[in-house]
Amino acid sequence: MQDLLDEIAATLGPRPDRGSVADYIPELAKIDPQQFGMAIALADGSVHVAGDADTPFSIQSVSKVFALALALGKVGDQLWRRVGREPSGQSFNSILLLEREEGIPRNPFINAGALVTTDTYLALSSPREALGHLLRFVRAAADDEGIHINHDVARSELETAHRNFALAHYLAAFDNLHNSPDKVLGTYCHQCAIDMTCRQLALAGRFLIEGAGFPRLLSRDRRRRINALMMTCGHYDGSGDFAFRVGLPGKSGVGGGILVIAPGRASIAVWSPGLNRYGNSLLGTEAMEVFARRTGWSVFG
Ligand code: GLN
Repeated sequence: MQDLLDEIAATLGPRPDRGSVADYIPELAKIDPQQFGMAIALADGSVHVAGDADTPFSIQSVSKVFALALALGKVGDQLWRRVGREPSGQSFNSILLLEREEGIPRNPFINAGALVTTDTYLALSSPREALGHLLRFVRAAADDEGIHINHDVARSELETAHRNFALAHYLAAFDNLHNSPDKVLGTYCHQCAIDMTCRQLALAGRFLIEGAGFPRLLSRDRRRRINALMMTCGHYDGSGDFAFRVGLPGKSGVGGGILVIAPGRASIAVWSPGLNRYGNSLLGTEAMEVFARRTGWSVFG
């Protein structure tokens, strides 16, 4: 495993075609695209890392997996009255379907759906309390107290979050937000601004795997369903492509991170800030494609 990770980092790390960093969040536009890291957490407790695996990055939409787990913990299946479970075939921040489908977002991983999950775990608490709860969940999953929110990134996104504000107001217009758009957006941007390293993210992802050696923070049904949503919706309109190329459930973020679950085996985190046309890490996706081919791991047998 260590040799494979070293080899992937050595071949992909220096590649010249790396996509472009997300520049609609000014703080993320400053990130050096010449970085690549990868980490894998296995059932025996071992962790293997390569490249820039100990450099913190903004997990952005990867946070939606933890937020979904938290929201389901709060309201259970009632969540599905407010958000769907179908891939959207649209970019992550699209407003297109929200009009046609009367304020019910297609799934919890596109931004509109994630705003509903954030609104759900917020419930009646303050953003500070709700984010504290989320951080406790992530830290418990990773078994690492050193995971924090990057307030500069949160502020930077909030100042330019016109699309997300539009989505939140749209949801509110359809009565699908319980808290004010300002409160939901403030919480959502801080949730997305959690910084983690590949090592921390790989460890945090273990709660999505069943088996001796992996922490049990979710029921089996819930874990399976979150994995199913990662497979079908985790990469937005690039989800089909990711399933085709990698064959494992994954969740990406515009910080360039991807969390991938190999059921029963391992949690894998990869990070490279340059994005492809879907807003998913270009080299991260390629690295996972090579990794899946070399290990033979796939949910499709
Ligand atoms: N915070 C980002 C946004 O709402 C997350 C998007 C992403 O990572 N795909 O635009």
